[in-house]
Amino acid sequence: MRPAILFPLFAPITSLPGLGPRLGKLAERLAGPHVVDLLWHKPVGIVDRIAVPSISEAPEGRNVVLTVRVDGHMPPLAPNRPYRIRCMDHTGLMDLVYFHIKGDWMKEKLPVGSLITVSGKAEYYNDQLQIAHPDHAAPVEDGAPATSAVEPTYPLTGGLNPKPLRNAIQAALSRAPQLPEWQDAAWLKRRDWPDWYSALTRLHNPVDEADINPLGPVRQRLAYDELLANQLALALVRAGQKKLAGRVVEGDGRLRAQITAALPYHLTHAQARSLDEIYADMAQPSRMLRLLQGDVGSGKTVVALMALLNAVETGAQGALMAPTEILARQHAETLAPLCAGAGVRLAVLTGRDKGKARAALLEKLAAGEIDILIGTHALFQDEVAFADLALAVIDEQHKFGVHQRLQLAAKGRGVDTLVMTATPIPRTLTLTAYGDMDVSRLDEKPPGRQPVKTVVMHSDRLEEVVSGLPRAIGSGQRIYWVCPLVDESEQVDLAAATHRHAALLERFGDRVGLIHGKMKGPEKDAVMAAFAEGRLDILVATTVIEVGVNVPEATIMIIEHAERFGLAQLHQLRGRVGRGAGASTCLLLYYQPLGEVARQRLQVMKETEDGFLIAEKDLELRGAGEMLGTKQSGIPEFRLADVAVHGELLAVARDDAKLIIERDPELASERGVALRTLLYLFERDAAVRYLRSG
Ligand code: ADP
Ligand code: MG
Repeated sequence: MRPAILFPLFAPITSLPGLGPRLGKLAERLAGPHVVDLLWHKPVGIVDRIAVPSISEAPEGRNVVLTVRVDGHMPPLAPNRPYRIRCMDHTGLMDLVYFHIKGDWMKEKLPVGSLITVSGKAEYYNDQLQIAHPDHAAPVEDGAPATSAVEPTYPLTGGLNPKPLRNAIQAALSRAPQLPEWQDAAWLKRRDWPDWYSALTRLHNPVDEADINPLGPVRQRLAYDELLANQLALALVRAGQKKLAGRVVEGDGRLRAQITAALPYHLTHAQARSLDEIYADMAQPSRMLRLLQGDVGSGKTVVALMALLNAVETGAQGALMAPTEILARQHAETLAPLCAGAGVRLAVLTGRDKGKARAALLEKLAAGEIDILIGTHALFQDEVAFADLALAVIDEQHKFGVHQRLQLAAKGRGVDTLVMTATPIPRTLTLTAYGDMDVSRLDEKPPGRQPVKTVVMHSDRLEEVVSGLPRAIGSGQRIYWVCPLVDESEQVDLAAATHRHAALLERFGDRVGLIHGKMKGPEKDAVMAAFAEGRLDILVATTVIEVGVNVPEATIMIIEHAERFGLAQLHQLRGRVGRGAGASTCLLLYYQPLGEVARQRLQVMKETEDGFLIAEKDLELRGAGEMLGTKQSGIPEFRLADVAVHGELLAVARDDAKLIIERDPELASERGVALRTLLYLFERDAAVRYLRSG
């Protein structure tokens, strides 16, 4: 249970003064549902104000605070002119300038003759000081503007103004308790970091730029807290897994030798090395929890097969789970001939299998008459019972939750888990997303791959591209045509794809297919099969083809509105071609306006095909926490840390977490108890449940 000391922070955001139903909803959209979310809403800048004693001493361009007397109101003489309030002191005159306001209430708020404090940016117009739309203008008796001269500025949302937001954040801050220190004292001292409460207070009441700078001690301290919570949570999950009894799986190599001999190629060094790591894990009496990271086309499937065979050789069973029907079936098609030759019994189970056939399959599975079961989410179903499951391989894990991974592993005794991902994420991010696993990397592509020629092209040449297609088709090439991702809205994406499909149909007749996420499984498979078998020349698609589909004859990838895709996605899409012997091309069509980041993204695509390098560039370009596309890759969102900047801290947090778990596995020491609070603070409640007394 969440400790009581944190209750005030997890009260609804609307419990804060000034956040009624309307503003509360806006604040919630901006920051999150709880008071604590406002604390994590960090300033993006500061307004550095100076107090000036008189009008004549206000420096041009600075933010100033000063006290003046209201001399008169000057409503606009024409509709597009501003409303002016003339003020004065013993050194001269100044104007407060307001555009588009009705003046009546101003006369009441700032009556002629009253002494007022004003703050805002000092500007000179016709040699006279003026402040346009002051941040603050109120009678002196109402109190001065922010007592500190420096004020933080926050990201806003339409309808929520700076002042109520700032007030709400200050109110949230006043509810923040002093919490027991969870960081190592020596480490804090070495980095010269403030304690949590002071850091938070300083973040929202900055004294200078260093207080909000991601590399300043305040932000670093808070970022480290968040990263440690992330790493500790993963370490706890991992320790919990390791505690569960595993089993020694060490096949005699008979099936592996047979199938290796039947392969038309030799394993790459990277494949062999990864397999050695996997076999070594499986041979341990503890459970394997390993990530196989490898770019599209790096040959993960055969690695999975070998690992599965290792289990089958001991008389046990293996499962291979894919995120989509298409992928599950494709894995089965690739592996079935290999397995059949060696007498390994393979079956497929997806949500589509029903009735008698399904019942028969389940019966065989339970009787141990199936060695390898390939499937989708359907594998989680309660009725799916193995005779003796020893290895679960999960493809594209980020499409599943950690929970589901555990669910599959629960279907056997001491089940080893191998997770595969084709999303090459930077090393630092691998830690945040997969910090609970050991990692094997396929950083070498199978030989003989031809590079994909990548061309970036303005969309006004679309017609040219279309007229070039008949020649390509005539020479036996097949073409993917990917339509834009708009707003992550399936509906809108679909409209674009349907439209393009219709246009191409008119041109090329019925050898143009369409595939999208709204289609039913069998429909999708039928279209995919038609394309794979060459009954279709052009396949128009939304991003459903993104993951894993293999059609070696497809050599042209056209991506419309390429500027709307993230780098990771573009890379995945391009990975659909260049899989066969023929030379391949990827056309990235962009529409104006092309932003700077989008331009650089397309440039990166042109320059390299190395997924790991692209991932590093992606992180660099996205920089300060823009989270576009990361949801797909399973990377958690951080509120205080920016992994592009705090990568070094992440590595430290990992080691720190490891050490903590080694020394105090139940988090029972004084620091351990404080660390539990940290986990709850960052809503890692699930991880705490791994502790005996959680
Ligand atoms: P991934 O799942 O990593 O994207 P696949 O396992 O689908 O990649 O492999 C892509 C292609 O490479 C397949 O056609 C496969 O047969 C082939 N392949 C795999 N390993 C090798 C290898 N060592 N040498 C040559 N081709 C290979
Ligand atoms: Mg694959």
